[in-house]
Amino acid sequence: MLVISTVNGARARRAELACTGRRLAFVPTMGALHEGHLALVRRGLGLADEVWASVFVNPTQFAPGEDFDRYPRDLERDRGLLEKAGATMLFAPSTKEIYPRPSATVLDVPQLADGLCGAFRPGHFQGVALVVAKLLNIVQPHIALFGAKDWQQAVVIRRMAADLCSPVRIEICPTEREEDGLARSSRNAYLAPEERRAATVLHRTLELATAAVRAGERSGAALEAKAAAEVAGEPLARLQYVAAVDPERLTPLATISNHVLVALAVHVGATRLIDNVLVEVS
Ligand code: AMP
Repeated sequence: MLVISTVNGARARRAELACTGRRLAFVPTMGALHEGHLALVRRGLGLADEVWASVFVNPTQFAPGEDFDRYPRDLERDRGLLEKAGATMLFAPSTKEIYPRPSATVLDVPQLADGLCGAFRPGHFQGVALVVAKLLNIVQPHIALFGAKDWQQAVVIRRMAADLCSPVRIEICPTEREEDGLARSSRNAYLAPEERRAATVLHRTLELATAAVRAGERSGAALEAKAAAEVAGEPLARLQYVAAVDPERLTPLATISNHVLVALAVHVGATRLIDNVLVEVS
């Protein structure tokens, strides 16, 4: 597997690949890789001839006081995992390489980015949209893969790509989970053993919400109240938000008819965790 750290190097390799006509899938990540990331690589291998991944901890999507400085970084380990999963190129640029100067361009998708996590992380999705647009321009993949775990992020990126007439196909892949249901996340490494046990409350709450919809609950507000009560039962957890929304528009659903996305963010100790479930009614 090639490791490339410069934009020019990635462009040169991309030009070589274009000559072969091989189809390229791309998995952007912030590293500290786990099974969730590797599942995206494997899915990419089923959809294209070659998969490239990137590892870049993007400073513009972290607000001051968030965990940018202590975000886990282990490029050598990530390299080994990606190679084993079948990726053929790892793009691992420095911050200077991606941001040689502060960006004067702002990419915002306010309709989709301002609610849910965006309400608590101002500017976060602008940072995500900017770095993903840059990476897509550099790598020019046929397909880019994102995880359903970060549903709002995937929907923002899909809309941004469509609005900018980008030819890339955005593929949203299922959330990979630990055996007890906790969504795999690089941030799970922050959890102390007690907190790790308490963190199962996210998945438990989403299972409860799914069961409630299946049992006939059609009120978004009642569903949110049930979910909030479940989180409140876990002493180490503090609910930031839970919302029952339309999965495409991310707008609140007063009445659930076809489907509902239940999304939540919970602090377990000092660690902020997110998860969601898409429930189809029919
Ligand atoms: P990150 O490194 O956290 O920025 O994530 C990189 C990509 O992996 C994003 O598209 C995430 O949605 C995706 N991802 C993270 N965790 C999971 C998971 N548990 N299952 C599936 N995809 C995931």
